[in-house]
Amino acid sequence: MREIFEEILGKENVFQNEPMKNHTTFKIGGSADWFLMPQNKEQLTQIIAVIKEAKMPFFVLGNGSNLLVGDKGIRGVVICLGKQMDNIEIFENECYVESGALLSKVANYVQRQGLSGLEFASGIPGSIGGAVFMNAGAYEHEIKEVIKSVEYMDKNGEIFTVSNGNCDFGYRTSLFSKNDYIVLGCTLTLKADNPCEIRKRMDDYTSRRTSKQPLEKPSAGSVFKRPVGYFAGALIEQSGLKGYGIGGAQVSQKHAGFIINTGNATAKDVLDLIEYIQKVVLENFGVTLETEVKMIGEF
Ligand SMILES: Cc1cc2nc3c(=O)[nH]c(=O)nc-3n(C[C@H](O)[C@H](O)[C@H](O)COP(=O)(O)OP(=O)(O)OC[C@H]3O[C@@H](n4cnc5c(N)ncnc54)[C@H](O)[C@@H]3O)c2cc1C
Repeated sequence: MREIFEEILGKENVFQNEPMKNHTTFKIGGSADWFLMPQNKEQLTQIIAVIKEAKMPFFVLGNGSNLLVGDKGIRGVVICLGKQMDNIEIFENECYVESGALLSKVANYVQRQGLSGLEFASGIPGSIGGAVFMNAGAYEHEIKEVIKSVEYMDKNGEIFTVSNGNCDFGYRTSLFSKNDYIVLGCTLTLKADNPCEIRKRMDDYTSRRTSKQPLEKPSAGSVFKRPVGYFAGALIEQSGLKGYGIGGAQVSQKHAGFIINTGNATAKDVLDLIEYIQKVVLENFGVTLETEVKMIGEF
């Protein structure tokens, strides 16, 4: 397979036994059998055809900020749609963004052009592709509010463009997560505004994040989805679990909805802690906490 992958992508974009801890914000995870970095849609299309022909399983990685990868790693192929595919093009108040662009980069770019709408997302450490897949959100906003259309690839390698109304966006879900489609890029509709005013709103969100979230430690953000009528962090805190740890994984003292890697946490430590939190919260409040973080690979 190496020869075929290298022929399509070049030697420098094909890796074997690649440690996933280097590609996740949790800094946790065993090795992926194959780690491929397509530079454009054409290469991605060719890679998908080869992988399908070889019947290899594959996983699409964005910026790795919502993942817990198992200690035994990932069998098959990880396709990284990261910073190598991050073009941004602006047409008046619309903006086409390739999936690998980081939300922070896009938010800063459009702010400088006097375009508003992405301020809420400027501190989310994901890629546009990951944000669309997850319908990422913060501060009462979601990415779906600024999406005009999304370009995606289906399981057969065919490329389509779908308008917002057909993206089936819900709380941390989308058409793309429901069908395992690959997000290639999207067009955003933004509003003209004064760059200084946009910057002020971004700075406000940033300071709220810095004061409330343990950004100085590796994590994957909020571990659990918000249960209807509650806040996961509050239920965990009221269960007396702030600061509670298993191995190197710990419930953050700053925000009980976050689990942090204090240094040498394994995926098993985090998984055990997640299951313990779920058990205690269920016993105390009768609420089942569902994970927002995606578990990938072998534990
Ligand atoms: C400190 C911190 C704060 C956070 N705050 C927030 C927050 O406020 N709001 C919020 O919603 N999230 C937050 N998150 C979680 C995370 O940043 C988001 O879920 C983000 O959208 C994930 O994007 P990613 O590119 O990192 O995706 P990854 O973690 O790489 O992947 C997540 C899922 O998306 C899929 N995926 C990624 N890219 C693509 C693509 N191009 N096509 C198809 N599938 C793809 C993956 O297969 C996987 O299933 C936070 C995380 C951290 C570490």
